[in-house]
Amino acid sequence: MIKFFNSLSRTKEEVPFHEGKVIKMYSCGPTVYYYPHIGNFRAYLFMDNIRRVLKYNGFTLDGVMNITDVGHLTSDADEGEDKMLVASQREHKSPWEIAKFYTDVFMKDAKLLNIDLPEHVVPATSVINEMICFVDHLMDKGYAYETSKGIYFDIAKFPEYGRLSGMDINEKLAGARIDVDEEKHSPYDFVLWVKAPKEHIMQWQSPWGMGYPGWHIECSVIGDKFLGETIDIHTGGVDHKPVHHENEIAQSNCYYDHQVVKMWMHLEFLQVDGGKMSKSLGNLYTLADLKERGYEPEVFRFFYFMAHYSKQQNFTFDALDMAKSTIKNLKSMAKDHKAGSAKVDTSKYEREFLESINDDLNMPRAIATTLKMLKEEKSQDVYGALMKFNQVLGLNFDENETEEVSPEVKDLCEKRWQAKKDRDFALADSLRNEISNLGYEVKDTREGYQILKK
Ligand code: AMP
Ligand code: ZN
Repeated sequence: MIKFFNSLSRTKEEVPFHEGKVIKMYSCGPTVYYYPHIGNFRAYLFMDNIRRVLKYNGFTLDGVMNITDVGHLTSDADEGEDKMLVASQREHKSPWEIAKFYTDVFMKDAKLLNIDLPEHVVPATSVINEMICFVDHLMDKGYAYETSKGIYFDIAKFPEYGRLSGMDINEKLAGARIDVDEEKHSPYDFVLWVKAPKEHIMQWQSPWGMGYPGWHIECSVIGDKFLGETIDIHTGGVDHKPVHHENEIAQSNCYYDHQVVKMWMHLEFLQVDGGKMSKSLGNLYTLADLKERGYEPEVFRFFYFMAHYSKQQNFTFDALDMAKSTIKNLKSMAKDHKAGSAKVDTSKYEREFLESINDDLNMPRAIATTLKMLKEEKSQDVYGALMKFNQVLGLNFDENETEEVSPEVKDLCEKRWQAKKDRDFALADSLRNEISNLGYEVKDTREGYQILKK
């Protein structure tokens, strides 16, 4: 039995089972206006962790993640500057160029971290029409209203507003400052669609004139389009709880008149030296920064396992050093086990590992079990169990075997992988032949692919 902590019910609950074992999972994705930092990647490692644990248990995943390339203001509520506009001005590029550049950076880093990405990764700008229809439907149902600035969600029509973050909206409303926008029914009404001033950088035709979507609507719409009217698990960072996810719940539940997401899972923040990570404090690191200091992405992946996702994790270079040396030991022990000849019954370790990951992703305990198992006599049984655990851990134990592969072959393999993802199988096959002519075979695996010397 798998139990995860549901932020909505505030209890550990059994994972909702689906006929045919397909779990529908939605994860809030990156806003692509700047380099993603390691705090952001803690959120995607959390997503990866859930996906791999569910797959380890035999579930099939239907996962979705949005890419925010429009509508996100510097404050999660409807205030501040447009993040894409800020980046456009900073880099003298169009918002489309900005989105493409930082989406590529994100995908590349996610791959370096061996993150098991969802089946669908969807930019918000690819669903503008669907967003317009969704908002229109909320208007028809009386949950939204129009002002001179845009279309707003009327939170008074959704009495459950605030349940996820435990806020009493009536109390909040009583103490609220008067909103500067007098047309709004309540200061907490949030924007679904913004009427754009002529000079605004990104805008589309809508029944309400030229405009662009508010930030929150994309997640409701992308979830609806790809997963339908019920979603088993929804993930995100704790910062999203009080605004973004409350708004998403209001939009989606009112659209369908029932609770759309069954289980909400939230990740606590990565702190640096006990405080907030921020550019101005100079303590914001990217994967490239870590690499420059001699830490491979995998070290940060392992560092994630050292704390429970529901607790803040403190980032220090000492802790990273510890992760680095543990991986090194783990790999050297794995090598010895691979060549070992003792017989070891690994079932108790396998049981303990499964119990730990299924107990709300207790990765520190799962790692402790793994290290305990590796202390056994050198045995291929241990190596076999470790390889099984690695479906969840996602570490690279074949480094040396792939290290000699030339950049040319690696590049062809990457292109073939992309062709497969684009469903261009003819191209994928011809690339496979090219790879084969160079003396290599490419084998598809659960995690992606493996390059083998023929
Ligand atoms: P953004 O690109 O700003 O929309 O954020 C992407 C994801 O990163 C969100 O799910 C945030 O909750 C998460 N996030 C941002 N900062 C941190 C942090 N310091 N630790 C963990 N997650 C974070
Ligand atoms: Zn979202």
